[in-house]
Amino acid sequence: MKLEIDFNTLQSAAIKMGASNKQTKLDSTLSQLSAIDSGLGEGLVLGEDLQLSEIENINSLLSYKGRQIMLYIPEQRSNIEEVIKNGKIKEARRLHVAECGTIEDMRNKGFFDRYQVTNDISGSYPVAGRQHYRGEWIESKAELGVCKNCLRVLNYKGYADLKGDAKQKVFLELKLSELFSTYSSYFKHYPMRSKTIGSYTQDWDKISERYRQQQNYTCEQCGVVLTRYKKLLHTHHINCVKTDNSLNNLKALCADCHSKQPNHDHMHVLHDDRLLINQLRKEQGKFDCSDYQEVLLYADSALEGLLLKCKKYNLPSPELGISVRNGDNFVSIDLAWPRKKFAVVIEKDQIQLLRTQGWTVYLASDCLNNFASMQQMIR
Ligand SMILES: [Zn+2]
Ligand SMILES: [Zn+2]
Ligand SMILES: [Zn+2]
Repeated sequence: MKLEIDFNTLQSAAIKMGASNKQTKLDSTLSQLSAIDSGLGEGLVLGEDLQLSEIENINSLLSYKGRQIMLYIPEQRSNIEEVIKNGKIKEARRLHVAECGTIEDMRNKGFFDRYQVTNDISGSYPVAGRQHYRGEWIESKAELGVCKNCLRVLNYKGYADLKGDAKQKVFLELKLSELFSTYSSYFKHYPMRSKTIGSYTQDWDKISERYRQQQNYTCEQCGVVLTRYKKLLHTHHINCVKTDNSLNNLKALCADCHSKQPNHDHMHVLHDDRLLINQLRKEQGKFDCSDYQEVLLYADSALEGLLLKCKKYNLPSPELGISVRNGDNFVSIDLAWPRKKFAVVIEKDQIQLLRTQGWTVYLASDCLNNFASMQQMIR
């Protein structure tokens, strides 16, 4: 008896099943993710929608399922009307962004007030409270400030070592979109943007391609040549008007320089891409790491707090763009002090690989939390 099986049909059926399974899985993952994102946007309630134990400490920043988040209490202690007028007064509740003493305390005691969990970076948050004299319950929105202990833990913009007016200025002028983009390398997901981005002209792809070619695929700011990595070179509109394609409004910028332009807080550059750009800058001799100003300019912004501290305490400046061979692969280092074989990294999986190569390796947050011992190891 001859068995006739049409393998092609079977195979294509299998592929279809596999593909559709995958698609359903992807769809349901995506809908779960967007449920988290929209929940966070509206503000989830701690203790109801999620538990304190689900809030992770990612390099000292607060995180929920891979997203950077903030915690705050909408109910104000007093002066609700004052808080609505100015959410940064002393009496107002603060937004916690880091594992500060308050959060640590809550974890230890297992007790917390009515905290909201949010990743809304619009700057305006629902608040409520009882009016002082009339006793009336008021609900409104206020522009709350970020907890100063959180700023100290992160050394955000050098906060911990600033004094007086300069210190208060960091607190008063803080932009949440900027704070979130500073630490974006630590997170896989980024808050949705409420602002709509102006659209490009139809021939934009061609214009951009021609322009970058004319610049020999070279970043007009840092000078890195990206012929082998064309995708990492962007064409930027200097006046931010995306339909103004006149030559003097265009600038070829590598992804790293581009994301550091004013009003580009929304740009999310992958940590690996930033490491690669620094590796290329080093190979091509584009920076001088003996100068802290340059290190601060080219390092991942998530490392700024640590770098400002190193600068303040006159530590020798680190090198950028160093990578170490590990078998057939290379492991990139965010900040390296090669003479001491000391490395600071952003991602945990870099640590073990570098340690097997004889390096002393820490996360930036560990160095900030134990700065005295870091100093001893580097000097
Ligand atoms: Zn705090
Ligand atoms: Zn550049
Ligand atoms: Zn741009």
